[in-house]
Amino acid sequence: MFFAQLHNRFSSPFFATFFGNSIIIAFQFFFIGEGYLNLVLLGPPGTGKGTIAKFIEERFGYTHISTGDLLRGEVAKKTEIGKAIEPVMNEGKLVRDVIVLEILKKKLSKVRKNFILDGFPRNLNQGKMLDLLLEQLGIGLEVVLEIDSDENVIVKRLSARRQCVKCRRIYGLDVPSKKIGVCDDCGAKTVLRKDDAPEVVKKRLGLYNEITKPLSDYYASKGLLVKVDGNLPLQNIFSEVESILAQREK
Ligand SMILES: [Zn+2]
Repeated sequence: MFFAQLHNRFSSPFFATFFGNSIIIAFQFFFIGEGYLNLVLLGPPGTGKGTIAKFIEERFGYTHISTGDLLRGEVAKKTEIGKAIEPVMNEGKLVRDVIVLEILKKKLSKVRKNFILDGFPRNLNQGKMLDLLLEQLGIGLEVVLEIDSDENVIVKRLSARRQCVKCRRIYGLDVPSKKIGVCDDCGAKTVLRKDDAPEVVKKRLGLYNEITKPLSDYYASKGLLVKVDGNLPLQNIFSEVESILAQREK
C-alpha cells in the first residue's frame, strides 16, 4: 500500500519532470516490479509442452513465443518473408535458420523480457546462434526448462491424440473431445495423425534425443538447465514449474 502510494506520487507529472524518468523507472523496478525471467522450453513431442507454456503464460503473464506460430503468422500476413517460406513450409520442410533468426529478432526486440521461447533452438548450433542474438539485443536468458518423459509415456500420450480432419483441432488424453471420434467445434471426424502412430513416434523420439542431447548438455554447463519430470500428472508438473520460476525470477 505504502509503495503503491509512493509510486503514484513519483509518477505524477510534477515529479516526473522534477526527477526525470530514470528515477521513476528505478522506483518501479524495486518497489512495484514483479520480477522478470526469460526462458527457453525444451522437450520432445508429446510431453505436453504446449499446455505447460500456456500455463506459464496465464499464471505468470509471460509471452509465449513459438517460432512455429511466428512463421505461420508471416505466411498468413503475406509478408516478404512469408511469401518466401510458404512453399518450404507447405512441403513440410524446415525453414532456414537465418530466416527463423530474423523473425525471432523482430519479436524479441519488442518483447525483451518475460518470455517463453518454444521451438527454437532445436540443436546445439541454433543454441549458439540464439546466444549471439540475445547478446546483440542485450537480453538475458535465466532458465532453460526441459520437460523429460519416458518413451512409453510419450507413445501412449501421442497415440491417444486425435486431430479433426476439417478444422485441425487436436484432442488428447488431457483434453478429449466430448464424443469419441467427433470434433466439438465443427462436428467433423477426428483421426490419429500418421506422425502420432507408435512406430513413427519412436523414430521421432530417437531423432530428438540425438539432436537435442548436446543442446541440453550445453545449457547444463552454463547452469541454466532445469529438468522437470514430464511423467507426473499435469497438476504436479504445474506446481513444480511454478516453484522453479518463482525461485529464479530476478
Ligand atoms: Zn473440427
